[in-house]
Amino acid sequence: MTVRVRFAPSPTGRIHIGNARPALLNYLFALQRQGRFVLRFDDTDLERSREEFARSIEVDLAWLGVRPDLTLRQSQRLALYDAAAEKLKAAGRLYPCYESPEELDRRRKRQLARGAPPVYDRSALALSEAERHALAAEGRRPHWRFKLASKIVAWDDLVRGKCHIDCASLSDPVLVRGDGTYLYTLTSAVDDIALEISHVIRGEDHVTNTAVQIQIFEALGGAAPVFAHHNLLTTASGEGLSKRSGHLSLTELRESGCEALAVAALAVLTGSSDAVRPVASLSELAGLFDLAHISRNAARFDAADLRALSARTLHAMEFSAVAARLREIGIDGAAAPAFWTAVRGNLPVLADAKIWWQVVAGTLTPVIEDAGFIAQAKTLLPPGPWDTATWKSWTEALKTITGRKGKTLYHPLRLALTGHESGPELAQLLPLIGPAKTAARLSGFSA
Ligand code: GLU
Repeated sequence: MTVRVRFAPSPTGRIHIGNARPALLNYLFALQRQGRFVLRFDDTDLERSREEFARSIEVDLAWLGVRPDLTLRQSQRLALYDAAAEKLKAAGRLYPCYESPEELDRRRKRQLARGAPPVYDRSALALSEAERHALAAEGRRPHWRFKLASKIVAWDDLVRGKCHIDCASLSDPVLVRGDGTYLYTLTSAVDDIALEISHVIRGEDHVTNTAVQIQIFEALGGAAPVFAHHNLLTTASGEGLSKRSGHLSLTELRESGCEALAVAALAVLTGSSDAVRPVASLSELAGLFDLAHISRNAARFDAADLRALSARTLHAMEFSAVAARLREIGIDGAAAPAFWTAVRGNLPVLADAKIWWQVVAGTLTPVIEDAGFIAQAKTLLPPGPWDTATWKSWTEALKTITGRKGKTLYHPLRLALTGHESGPELAQLLPLIGPAKTAARLSGFSA
């Protein structure tokens, strides 16, 4: 079987790390199986959907490394939904209802007061042809409900195992609004059939939809895909994430310097039995993840963990993986690979590499804390060429002659050479700074 999966966001806000979870789970699932990944914008809610959000979702996914094989928009596929609605009407599974929201609300309250479940009572099904005409003549436009078969729907869920839902306890879902627009419950099933989606991997907030949609698949004569419902990400205090609040949006994380691979590893591995750890590529992450390892408890995560994981991800990155991004911030040339090896372990975010590039390749005003000692240090500078052993031989000689050790030996040198209190190992930085700049800085000159 060819694996085909889809990520189906509604473009009603910026996606956050919680939305990155289904995006990545689907993408990696396809990657593991040489499958296809479809990006489908669920944008039939014209009032809330915005093109700018669709664009930002594409940019965010590209940043994560998620590359769709196909992108489409439900708003451009209305003919397909029209045909499906006609088919359901002809089969007696889609029926017109004329109740206003207020009427429905009153009815629900009465049911609850009686202690009855607030399930739609199907009064519209009992309307005669003449009554329907009378309601239409009043100017009422019907919305349309799907007539659920009163039965238990069961499926083998790749995360949750055997699932079943008794549809007798559900309201017949509205599939077409009064204004003729379609609801996700229908359009999603229609597209999943049309696109031959083999696996639907989505949040557990859709479990009830799945039972309904399995009935819609059957009514439309399509094969139901395999389902997997993953737990939802919450903040450390257990709150859900909201697309509209922009909380932990991928855009915000990217702009704060978070590494995409850290976001991916965290989004995929949090709330599973696999330990969260840095990865060097999405293929590596694909090799680690397994839907069956996802827990049924909420997946809590802490933004502080994300920052730490991002730094660890960066520290392990090869130069080839960051060369293009370094070039964009002006770090380029023959010294760039050694520079990267020297500084990566000290960087909370990649952009901070600029600070150290300034130290090795730019000009700075040295901080001379102890002029006598620094002058002496200058006279003991070893001859070139310098390498990573130079620092040790220089400071050993200084130690012997001055009797200094520890902070009193190293700190004045660091300040004079870098202008910073702390930073990457000087053994690595010294050959990159080079003899000319080093001598000038030790003399107190800007260099
Ligand atoms: N648009 C739905 C959502 O964002 C898609 C759910 C699904 O994958 O079917 O929740």
